[in-house]
Amino acid sequence: MERVNAWKTYDENELNQVMALGESYKAYLGAGKTERECVKEAVKLAKKHGFKDMAARIASGKALKAGEKLYYTHMDKCIMLFIVGSEKLEKGFNIIGAHIDSPRLDVKQNPLYETESLAYMDTHYYGGIKSFQWLTLPLAIHGVVVKKDGSVIELSVGEDDKDPVFCISDILPHLGQDQMKKTASEFIDGEQLDLIIGSCPLKDEDKDAVKANVLALLKERYGFEEEDFLSAELEIVPAGKPRDLGFDRSMVLGYGHDDRVCAWAQLEAMFEIDGKPQKTVACILTDKEEIGSVGATGMRARYFENAIAELMELAGEGGDLKLRRALAASSMLSCDVSAGFDPAFAGAFEKKNAAFLGKGVCFNKFTGSRGKSGSNDANAEFMAKCRAIMDDNGVKFQTAELGKVNQGGGGTIAYICALYGMNVIDSGVAVLSMHAPWEIISKADLYESVKAYKAFALNA
Ligand code: MN
Ligand code: MN
Repeated sequence: MERVNAWKTYDENELNQVMALGESYKAYLGAGKTERECVKEAVKLAKKHGFKDMAARIASGKALKAGEKLYYTHMDKCIMLFIVGSEKLEKGFNIIGAHIDSPRLDVKQNPLYETESLAYMDTHYYGGIKSFQWLTLPLAIHGVVVKKDGSVIELSVGEDDKDPVFCISDILPHLGQDQMKKTASEFIDGEQLDLIIGSCPLKDEDKDAVKANVLALLKERYGFEEEDFLSAELEIVPAGKPRDLGFDRSMVLGYGHDDRVCAWAQLEAMFEIDGKPQKTVACILTDKEEIGSVGATGMRARYFENAIAELMELAGEGGDLKLRRALAASSMLSCDVSAGFDPAFAGAFEKKNAAFLGKGVCFNKFTGSRGKSGSNDANAEFMAKCRAIMDDNGVKFQTAELGKVNQGGGGTIAYICALYGMNVIDSGVAVLSMHAPWEIISKADLYESVKAYKAFALNA
């Protein structure tokens, strides 16, 4: 049952491919620090690889042909890609789906205040974070400010070498006695995660002069005012690019591997498919997974189902029953990261059923917590099919649970797509320090994931 270390199996040619994919992935990850930016980058790449805008396709009403490649965005925060197969759509789709939202600090709607000549931006964390990890790091602000007239100002401050960055302070150890007695969860309260954004007062201003100065700069540089924060979505993320990790450059240290590593692997798999697949292939990059797949852009919203309905209408297979048949006959890989075995915290894992860095794409038959609560728990028949596809296509894979029984747990989008009665299983890249500002993955696992998703898309 021991799984092979993928690195040991590569010849020089394959090693070069692993490293080349690592470079492309780092470029994507560095450019996509928010779901909106990830969609934008995905559209750019999709167009480059011959995918056409499905919205225009729907407007034209022209009949769908096998081999057509389409992309379809939803509220600028989700994107779906399709490659039309030769078989009837009613027979079902081969679906690969990942999420492109990542844990971060969101800026509050009324965020600005000043105290003791320091100006701050108040935040509300998004997703499961350890608050203390976000202190004393260089942070960047990404997002949009939407003015009352509907115009959108895009913001990205802290990524260019010449940009300023932002930071949340921590108490010095010399005066940290009270703090050090606290448990890690009490160490820093969510309400304490306030970002330092300025210290220089506006001349001739008496009250809140530092805040006034920041507001003047925002007005001058970006053209918005304090009230515009009411309709802004600004995300505080670690500043800087993903980097190679280790002397051997075998890993990537980056922000947002969860789950942009699977999202990118899916895109790459889609781009590597040429010709007409038998089944229509669908790739979903969704939002809001980290807070329960809620909202109009979360997987629970039915935008994917709507897109399938549109496609089937174009294919001359419209109607509710056919749509239901298509969804129920589909097979899906819910591509999400798994907890990599961390020797420094070995006690949290059960080694026989843990995912190891470098041992290939990881299948999680189930996730959930306690007695598999909240899990999808894929069928054995489907797992068997996936095993066969992986082995037939030379994909290195491993299987795992998310840590020891009763140690905690987690969820993905798998159970939501399973609501249609389709087969779904979780499959993704193992990550160390998941949900930390900087997470770690292995380039070998990224490479095997691309191979896995392509093999699944063509053979499920
Ligand atoms: Mn995830
Ligand atoms: Mn997550």
